[in-house]
Amino acid sequence: MDFKKEIDKRRTFGIISHPDAGKTTLTEKLLLFGGAIQEAGAVKSNKIKKSATSDFMEIERQRGISVATSVLAFLYQDKKINILDTPGHKDFAEDTFRTLTAVDSVIVVIDVAKGVEEQTEKLVEVCRMRNIPMIVFINKLDREGKDAFDLLDEVEQKLGLQVTPLSFPIGMGYDFKGIYNIYEKNINLFSGDSKKDIEDTIAFDDLENPELENLIGTETALNLRENLELVSGVYPEFDKAKYLEGELQPVFFGSALNNFGVREMLDCFIEIAPPPRDKRAEERLVKAEEKNLTGFVFKIHANMDPKHRDRLAFIKIVSGTFERNKPYLHVRHKKKLKFSSPNAFFAEKKEIVDVSFPGDIVGLHDTGNFKIGDTLTEGENLHFTGIPSFSPEHFRYINNADPMKAKQLNKGIDQLMDEGVAQLFTLELNGRKVIGTVGALQYEVIQYRLEHEYGAKCSYENFPAYKACWVEAEDETNEEFKEFKRVKQKFLAKDKQGQLVFLADSQFSLQMTQQKYPSVKLHFTSEFQ
Ligand code: GDP
Repeated sequence: MDFKKEIDKRRTFGIISHPDAGKTTLTEKLLLFGGAIQEAGAVKSNKIKKSATSDFMEIERQRGISVATSVLAFLYQDKKINILDTPGHKDFAEDTFRTLTAVDSVIVVIDVAKGVEEQTEKLVEVCRMRNIPMIVFINKLDREGKDAFDLLDEVEQKLGLQVTPLSFPIGMGYDFKGIYNIYEKNINLFSGDSKKDIEDTIAFDDLENPELENLIGTETALNLRENLELVSGVYPEFDKAKYLEGELQPVFFGSALNNFGVREMLDCFIEIAPPPRDKRAEERLVKAEEKNLTGFVFKIHANMDPKHRDRLAFIKIVSGTFERNKPYLHVRHKKKLKFSSPNAFFAEKKEIVDVSFPGDIVGLHDTGNFKIGDTLTEGENLHFTGIPSFSPEHFRYINNADPMKAKQLNKGIDQLMDEGVAQLFTLELNGRKVIGTVGALQYEVIQYRLEHEYGAKCSYENFPAYKACWVEAEDETNEEFKEFKRVKQKFLAKDKQGQLVFLADSQFSLQMTQQKYPSVKLHFTSEFQ
């Protein structure tokens, strides 16, 4: 086994988009290319259409049976590709943010008619902050949409990216004739009216060849030549090093539904996307080639089957090999653990594996040992950073609605928070518990799961907070900080890690507090060192 070769083979990435841009359809086409599935429709959409709890529960139940949809792996050419699922629904944005800590690159899908949408902006911002290499796929070219150049401008302005098109559409909507592949310098055309058949493409190498007029018509040919001239005049040449540093984003055009332009992107992805990247820990930078295992938990999936209350903790392997039945150190618990049935993921299935490599995701059965952000090593005291909590948008007191079940309730809350379903804040003043979420939907989910998985009942009560701010004191002993703590006592709480949090009740009071106590820094995320 050549360890270095195994690392170089891996490409672990996420597809991000606003709901409905075509993420599921694209994923499926990628799996079809990899031969991992035989027909369309095999990849389940995890979309929540109606923002309804029943919908969510149904999805969770299906996923409980096939949790593998969280990671879809396949082989393409000589590469092992791991696609990590990133929910597009805004109520699950935190889940997606956390998953983005485990990817080495991303593909951003944009709807040609809708352009850059809200969720895309937020997710791309997170990727930009981390310098994650991004490829942009503009989808649904078989429909009428925005002008290609306008769209490229919009992507640059709204997403703050520096783009360079590596393919360019020939026509659009009814007149969509095909794609010119700038990266490979050839043309793929739809032949005839059929926009359904993947085989119907014609390779075309030379743009100046007069055959082009015959194939797409004089006007379209002229247009294409002009457009490509403009592209080379306006956009920088593709530079792989810049892409890898997150400074330049190649753009592809196509139609996931009709499988057009997808192979072009995938072939380029295989060539340019990074193998497993080094990752920063509090103590040091960890390199993928290191022999000793390191990895971290970025997601915990509850088993929705009430007969099996265990959970699956998803570990991204950063360095070394993960072997079945070998003891590893759970750094937070300072405890060695062995795993007899680690799961690997392939297409839409999961299976037990003996060895996994950097870039791979392993699913470990867990009865409550893990929480998001935990690190596993071969003995080293190491803590991976970069899984921050963000300020929730909604806040409610959680009350026990069945006094006989206080223990179950506490255990349930504890475990659900470890899974990252929501955030818990315990008020300094009276120890009451406040749950913070990104979307209102989570409250119903928590209530449902507490009842069905832990046999506990809860009720909620509004808590008038606007934002949670993590508190950083310049000097904990100075008078200003003491006064801040005294005056704001009612609004202070501890998060699950014991960090001090200020629950501001309005934007105004947040501003006033900042002005009044300049030495007390207030942060919207939990990681600010
Ligand atoms: P997701 O929410 O981003 O996962 O989006 P889906 O993949 O579920 O796609 C949303 C809708 O757009 C579905 O009805 C798809 O059939 C449709 N769709 C996806 N790709 C294309 C495309 O290239 N052209 C057209 N016309 N429709 C598409």
